[in-house]
Amino acid sequence: MEEKIKIPRGTRDFLPDEMFKRRYVERTIREIFQSFGYKEVQTPTFEHLELFTLKSGEEIIEEIYAFKDKGNRDLALRPELTAPVIRFYVEKMQMEPKPLKLFYIGNCYRYDRPQRGRYREFTQVGCELIGTDTPEAYAELIYLSYTILRNIGLKNIVLRLGNLDIIYSLLENMGVKKNQFRELMHLIDKSKFYELEKKLFEMRVAKSKVKMFREFLNCNSIEKLREFIEAPAVDRFREIIDFLKVFGIDKFEIDMKIVRGLDYYKGIVFEIDAPILGAEKQLCGGGEYELIPLFGGKEVPTAGFAIGFDRAIIALEEEGYVFPEQKLDVYVIPINEKTLKNAIKIVNMLREKNIIADVDLMRRGLAKSLKYASSVKAKKAIIVGPKELEKENVIVRDMDSGKQIEVKMKNLLSMIK
Ligand code: AMP
Repeated sequence: MEEKIKIPRGTRDFLPDEMFKRRYVERTIREIFQSFGYKEVQTPTFEHLELFTLKSGEEIIEEIYAFKDKGNRDLALRPELTAPVIRFYVEKMQMEPKPLKLFYIGNCYRYDRPQRGRYREFTQVGCELIGTDTPEAYAELIYLSYTILRNIGLKNIVLRLGNLDIIYSLLENMGVKKNQFRELMHLIDKSKFYELEKKLFEMRVAKSKVKMFREFLNCNSIEKLREFIEAPAVDRFREIIDFLKVFGIDKFEIDMKIVRGLDYYKGIVFEIDAPILGAEKQLCGGGEYELIPLFGGKEVPTAGFAIGFDRAIIALEEEGYVFPEQKLDVYVIPINEKTLKNAIKIVNMLREKNIIADVDLMRRGLAKSLKYASSVKAKKAIIVGPKELEKENVIVRDMDSGKQIEVKMKNLLSMIK
């Protein structure tokens, strides 16, 4: 026997019940974005490889699905959607009124090591806010990401706020050169603090300053930040936090170790975790960034975030969230072939009135049809029999209680509703 073909590593099939859950959550998310004035965009699944190497450097090639097409073009499956959306903005939307609020829901591909919550194909939902850098704009953005995760039903999420401008200002005060920031940030991102200290010593930063920098990274209050540095960036950070409280969020942590792992972030950065997920607990990451000039557009402020949709679903399941199930309002059963056409007319009439209805397509007997009706979770069955039809009646059975009543055909609709 030939070996069965299996699903590729790191990808998933979704059963109907899972798809129903996913679409349900997706619908809620879409509505929340729209209620904040965001508009949905879609970009292609693959892009020129250069789009991603420009943004993240050549190292990114190792982590993504890059390939040549038959025309010898270097392409890549998108690993995320910020670069594609900003490319789209630069090509077609620069003249749009500001602020421009764009959101997306789309699948992404990364050559990651698969594990629970980490896949090679996964879905990100996210948004980009283009054209404003007021503290209230950033506060609204953070509030939006938090609201999405709360309103899809997550109970335990933790918002952490950091600020790259503050780190950069402090490093500068310590005498670190700008071209040295990158390797330091990389070490912070990977939580390699021992190597970080070593690097700083190599850069001839005094021992006391290195110690101070380590304490700064562990600083968890905005008030204490001032003990390390007095900079406009601290005031801006404070203003964003003040507006965040106005929007209604007063539970968050200050975490100066948030780096976002990417070079184009600056200013405010934030992450949201679901502690219940353990190792892969990060649900959302975002912040202020600069990509437009890199893609040839006219510089305007930009910020955004991306939520790992698959992880959000897992977190909901872990928290015991009760998802709605797909159900049938009505299952129509012709007793025999003579009543089949009438049964079809009835199901047609119901569907036209937006009632979720199905009809037996297998010409099987009443008992088997009823069994099927309960397995697809129909609320009611309509049994179409010849004797009742003569009186222009049908039988309506409540699938939960098993109670049956004879109903006039003309009253059927109001009875079902
Ligand atoms: P990033 O674009 O790396 O900031 O990722 C944003 C969010 O996408 C993360 O916080 C995760 O929730 C999610 N994510 C990233 N990589 C994966 C992956 N390989 N599988 C599933 N979710 C992912």
